[in-house]
Amino acid sequence: MDIKHILEYQRQEEMLVKAAILAYVAAELAKSNYRGFYVGCSVLAYNGYYYQIFTGINQMDERGGIKICAEQQAIGNAREAGYLQIIAITVVGNCQRDGTSGHYSITLHPCGGCRRYCSAFSGVSSETIVLTVRIDNPKIREEHTFQQIVLLHNVKTWKEIFSSRISSVYSQFKLLISRYSY
Ligand SMILES: [Zn+2]
Repeated sequence: MDIKHILEYQRQEEMLVKAAILAYVAAELAKSNYRGFYVGCSVLAYNGYYYQIFTGINQMDERGGIKICAEQQAIGNAREAGYLQIIAITVVGNCQRDGTSGHYSITLHPCGGCRRYCSAFSGVSSETIVLTVRIDNPKIREEHTFQQIVLLHNVKTWKEIFSSRISSVYSQFKLLISRYSY
């Protein structure tokens, strides 16, 4: 990534964290998620001339009619305003096990849906910074590139999972046979 973007991110890091925490608080006040699980996100975006911070909150209603992630809302707001290059994504929330990869990290990472959304959007590059911050202690942070996040949660393909299940069933079967073959 261009060094000027990295310098701007370093300059705005605390502002990004504050904006994401404010978004988190707004989500909590609005009870935006019926499950009581809130996420605040801020992104540092660039339009070719200027940088700007955009925010988003997660939303989910009881019937599942609305399900929006904070990250996708924040990036959507940036795109709407013509800020098409995402320099950094800051996510604030409580930890939970990743629904796609099963990975449990010390901070809340963007979910599988958001990782797919970001992969499909050209404004997020492999070098986009993903800063994840704990709401109970904002000093606990992880900083990855988007590529590192994807690799970290890179689960096997269904084909691989299926063939590993088959071979595990087969080895259990062989074990069973060996027990009764005396
Ligand atoms: Zn998500």
